[in-house]
Amino acid sequence: MHYTYPSPLTTPLDRILPPEPLLLMGAGPVPIPHAVAKANGVVINHLGDTMNEVIAGVKNMARYAFQTSCDKVMGVAGPASAGMEMSVTNLLWPGRSALILVNGTFSERMGAMATAVGADVDYMKFDEPSMVDLAQVQAQLALKQYDVVTLVQGETSCGIYNPNLPEVVKACKDAGALVIVDAVVTLSTMPLLMDEWGIDVCITGGQKGISSIPGVSLIAFSDAAWKVVEARTAIMPHWCLDARKAFNFWGLQQYHYTAPVPGILALYEALRLICEETLQKRFSRHLHSSEALQSGVEAMGLKLFVPKQYRLNSVVAINIPDGIESYQTRKFMTNKFNVEISDAFGLPIFRIGQMGEQCRSANLFKTLYAFGMSLRTQGVDLDVASGMAALEIGLAGDLTDYVP
Ligand SMILES: *Cc1c(COP(=O)(O)O)cnc(C)c1O
Repeated sequence: MHYTYPSPLTTPLDRILPPEPLLLMGAGPVPIPHAVAKANGVVINHLGDTMNEVIAGVKNMARYAFQTSCDKVMGVAGPASAGMEMSVTNLLWPGRSALILVNGTFSERMGAMATAVGADVDYMKFDEPSMVDLAQVQAQLALKQYDVVTLVQGETSCGIYNPNLPEVVKACKDAGALVIVDAVVTLSTMPLLMDEWGIDVCITGGQKGISSIPGVSLIAFSDAAWKVVEARTAIMPHWCLDARKAFNFWGLQQYHYTAPVPGILALYEALRLICEETLQKRFSRHLHSSEALQSGVEAMGLKLFVPKQYRLNSVVAINIPDGIESYQTRKFMTNKFNVEISDAFGLPIFRIGQMGEQCRSANLFKTLYAFGMSLRTQGVDLDVASGMAALEIGLAGDLTDYVP
């Protein structure tokens, strides 16, 4: 046999990966707990009694995280964007309409997905950084009937959240629309009550608030949304993202596609840790740590991008000081301190993540110090010591966030 293409030269992964992994303090993915990493190394049959028990556990714990009693809770083999696409694809098709509330990159992505499945799409944009304006939404709902409204709870791209989410959802429901909420960055970091607020479809990813691996996501459908899914006669353009088919696996213990087993096991462990910590404690850990970090950043002499009223507590956006290059600062932080943070999609900000495992005081101290010193090396006149002191005072010697 003659092979045209010879076997290529190869490099073991160990030689590509850094000796010590970077501390991931950007806008995701985030560090994962040991139990999650361990689960991610296991493959079992994706059908059968053992997997069925895992699936039942994931659904049960996810219901707690979403605060819902609905049965249509499912994992998605794919990034959070696949979860978003699943929500949009199953509820929208040619002849149906959607209002897309936009605070930034991720909320706008829903519009691209809705357009791609042939829906009639209107956008309502709020300048970054600002929250959704309820009165404007109500005015638009009075002008036109929509089948679906989409919005984010938190917009990772610019560091805001929509504190009026319950009121906006209610206004949309009163107007007869189904509401899709992207809770990718916020689930388990701030209150979200899917049933009480009347959310119809809620989505989250693995790699953000819940601190699992990237590439396996979660979606939950309300009964009202599921009625539309079930009654659909329009052609479904996706095979993998067909919610009715997905429920064969997530509800009826039957084959749909080979499930991403390690990712689901990892999700199981991530959700279990959330249940053990409890949502209440997890929310206060995020709020407390985020406020401490914010005061540290300000005490150093930097400015926050988002007004306090709608500032996200899982990703903090910081204005880039005049004359400073984001890339150079972040490169210095990475090389010198082994800490990585994010820039943004074209906005003049740095973003420091505080999702799940990022939100541990030891990580915050390391990150704030690395950030301040790196900016100082780039020529910014910062009072790093005052920043560190403010962080310490903000955390108030609180060690409850340490994992035992
Ligand atoms: C990260 C993120 C997404 C997309 O997640 P992927 O896993 O990259 O597809 C969607 N929405 C929000 C709010 C996010 O933060």
